[in-house]
Amino acid sequence: MKNIAIAIDGPAAAGKSTVAKIVANDLGFTYIDTGAMYRAFTWIVMEKGLDPENEEASCSIIPEVTISLEEDGRVICNGHDVTKAIREPRVSSNVSYIASYPKIRLALVDMQRAMAKSKSVVMDGRDIGTYVLPDAEVKIFQIASVECRAKRRYEENVSKGIPTSYEDVVADVEKRDYIDSHRAFAPLKPAADSVELDTSPMSIMEVVRAIEEIVKQKTGLEVACR
Ligand code: C5P
Repeated sequence: MKNIAIAIDGPAAAGKSTVAKIVANDLGFTYIDTGAMYRAFTWIVMEKGLDPENEEASCSIIPEVTISLEEDGRVICNGHDVTKAIREPRVSSNVSYIASYPKIRLALVDMQRAMAKSKSVVMDGRDIGTYVLPDAEVKIFQIASVECRAKRRYEENVSKGIPTSYEDVVADVEKRDYIDSHRAFAPLKPAADSVELDTSPMSIMEVVRAIEEIVKQKTGLEVACR
């Protein structure tokens, strides 16, 4: 069977990773969380005592950074298990600076394309349909209101034991959306051939079913109905 790519892009905390994981599992595809890679790079920049707002210093460590997304969901960066650390607010509030540096993007995009080359994938991020995998068979642009996204992220953080306030989550989501959609290189925007899904009024499983229906229409793949 030919490899198939499903690209799910959208603003921060739109629930992309939650639904992407379920869709990948239903289809037997590999899930690739590209945001985790930008977060891991941000973590290592901070771990080395560098300033994420300093482009030159942040880019200087590209040759020494290794990031691996494990099948069990763990994220390993330079030998450290950073799965939990990359979700901390200090990483979230700096990741969009790191993601705006073209040299870092090019290095991570190379890794993302290599991961998608030999297998069928569900990849989520900001530029998957527009830049990383422009030939993806299915492109979804998943949006939701700021309030809805902040509420979902706040509840997720609380359930994971990550200390946050709701106001801080709103501020973080708005700041990241602004930087992500205004950067010069591969900004956050819908691909011309993407299907937009406003998930504000939808449950997770309603979003999953909507995406699986689109996958069926575009690829002919039969997905087991839930
Ligand atoms: O998806 P997540 O919110 O974890 O992504 C963290 C950050 O990584 C985003 O706010 C964005 O700055 C950056 N990112 C990106 N391109 C991607 C994935 C994430 O710029 N493909």
